[in-house]
Amino acid sequence: MSTRDSEHVVHVRAPGKVNLALRVGPARPDGYHGLVTVFQAVSLYEDVRAQEAPGFSVTVSGRQAAAVPTDDTNLALRAARLLADSAAVDKGVRLHLTKGVPTAGGMGGGSADAAAALLACDVLWGTGLARDELAELAAELGADVPFALTGLTAVGTGRGDVLSPVLGRGTFHWVLALQGTGLPTPAVFRRFDERQAGPVAEPVLSHDLMSALRAGDPRALAPELVNDLQPGAVDLAPQLGEVLAAAADAGALAQIVSGSGPTVVALASGHAHAQSVADRLRAAEVADEVLVVTGPTQGARVLESMRGPAHPGPA
Ligand code: ATP
Repeated sequence: MSTRDSEHVVHVRAPGKVNLALRVGPARPDGYHGLVTVFQAVSLYEDVRAQEAPGFSVTVSGRQAAAVPTDDTNLALRAARLLADSAAVDKGVRLHLTKGVPTAGGMGGGSADAAAALLACDVLWGTGLARDELAELAAELGADVPFALTGLTAVGTGRGDVLSPVLGRGTFHWVLALQGTGLPTPAVFRRFDERQAGPVAEPVLSHDLMSALRAGDPRALAPELVNDLQPGAVDLAPQLGEVLAAAADAGALAQIVSGSGPTVVALASGHAHAQSVADRLRAAEVADEVLVVTGPTQGARVLESMRGPAHPGPA
């Protein structure tokens, strides 16, 4: 590897997500639950910087960085290795993750890292995969990874990895109540199973939800927000009941647990309303951090692919 190669840095940004609806079906023979979900990418991001290196390594900074593993279980590292194996690349990479999305927060932060790492390494190594080839690798890494590549608003079926875009309009304003301690997704699914008295029905999405998204109407969207994992998440983290009540008291149009939690997402009617809900939620002191975000936002994208200034390219 030349010194110049080692100075090549690719910077990719990928969004976190909220689940506007999460309907969980019966467990399948492979152990996964079939589900139907509506993802929306929001303006809370993971920034991944990739630089060629002899081996594979990852460092992490930013929000809740201490909770992220830097060994081979790190999803971004697994993504880089998967791309190297499948494209027969014999180069390595040094990854740096700057986290904006909470860890184990139900917002797909690790999935965003994986999607961003796939794209960053594809550019860094010049493997030039098509988006659908990247999406196939993404699905191998985790059910939420393909969505972090595509972003915007989409219906996910299967494990959540089979996506179809939702042609919505407008911008929605969300208030996020973050917790310092995450919830492990498998435990929340186990609790979902334990709570079922009888057989679980096949999941469906409401037509009214899709119309509300198409119209870009937060008031029509509010009664359609639903999360079948919420009761299980609240069982495991009872303080979430207080967060949901505080969001309602703060005047949100509606509030739900995002994905497997513990992040609570509250819907506002616009920017000023979101700020007011956020202020009141902060005052209620039920969350470690309260943020205002918007959605939908784009999926993983290259922000910069740059060679170090000390080593300009040939004239
Ligand atoms: P999802 O909603 O997709 O289930 P999540 O947002 O709840 O995911 P993540 O932040 O993606 O949760 O991380 C889940 C677990 O994965 C963490 O507890 C952590 O141990 C592990 N992990 C592996 N790689 C990463 C990464 N790059 N960032 C965050 N967590 C990671």
